[in-house]
Amino acid sequence: MSVRIKTPNLDEIFEKWKQKAVRTDKKKMEKQFGTKGAVFSLDAVSAAEYVKDTMKEAAIYFAVKKSLGPAPKGKEENLVLAPKVSREQYYSFKGAGNINKENWKSNDMVPHYESIQAVPCKNCKGKGYMENKCKTCKGTGKIEETLTVLVGEEQKKEKKIFSYPCGACYGTGNRQEPCKECGGHKNMYKYEVLPVPFKTVITGVPILHSSAQTRYEKQIGDDLHKMIEDVEGIRFSDFKELESKVEPSLGYMNKNISKTVGAARSDYRTYEKDKDAQITSQIYLFPMIQMFCETKRGSKFEIYSLGSGNKFMIYSNF
Ligand SMILES: [Zn+2]
Ligand SMILES: [Zn+2]
Repeated sequence: MSVRIKTPNLDEIFEKWKQKAVRTDKKKMEKQFGTKGAVFSLDAVSAAEYVKDTMKEAAIYFAVKKSLGPAPKGKEENLVLAPKVSREQYYSFKGAGNINKENWKSNDMVPHYESIQAVPCKNCKGKGYMENKCKTCKGTGKIEETLTVLVGEEQKKEKKIFSYPCGACYGTGNRQEPCKECGGHKNMYKYEVLPVPFKTVITGVPILHSSAQTRYEKQIGDDLHKMIEDVEGIRFSDFKELESKVEPSLGYMNKNISKTVGAARSDYRTYEKDKDAQITSQIYLFPMIQMFCETKRGSKFEIYSLGSGNKFMIYSNF
């Protein structure tokens, strides 16, 4: 035996929306529904006049507890030239305690500032330069030139060696050239890409599937998570039961609802298999009414209801 749930009627939904809308922005209501020269009255704003179309849809909800384990283990090391160190974005968790994964907006593995470390260049043994034989003097430290000297009255040609210190190596015979490996900076620099130190926390996650495909899925899920008692749906303890009773419970059915049930079921199965997850609620089936409205001024908007005629919530993009 299944119990058919009573869906809220259009006037009830519209009334609830109207009261909420006028509390939120009375001026906007007057502008969109008022008549020039007449005193604005909410009573004159009726579903019959402004609701152009409606659709009967459904939503499925359940809650899951998920443990957020530590980030993937491991580390990656990068070795870079000194001027490239500043091109990386570093993170520091020193004294910051553990991080809540839900609030974290970057990768799970990030370069850690504290891991930056100088590594003496292997090529030049940390000197920054290489010592090579001077090319100008071939390592001798001196330049030798031959002078032709004219000797005596006969001016007899005689060769003499004239030697002076090499200007390229200051007479040392060696020249220092910046090391090609470290660019003369003596060191290479190492930093580590490490996991963010996440807290291991258990969080509650609302899972919502709705056939109305509204932009409020996330909000509806969050609301249900907080106030499941404020809205009435039909509860099931397993999906098989739900699947067999969707239509008799709602009193209607459509293709989108079937698809939604299918998507919710495969999601449910995934959580059942997930070692880090635990389904913590029953499965709720809610009727959803989607109302397409148009104001006196021609602005279009939608109102959604979620829940039974006894207890329902509304959403609108008015
Ligand atoms: Zn070097
Ligand atoms: Zn030289």
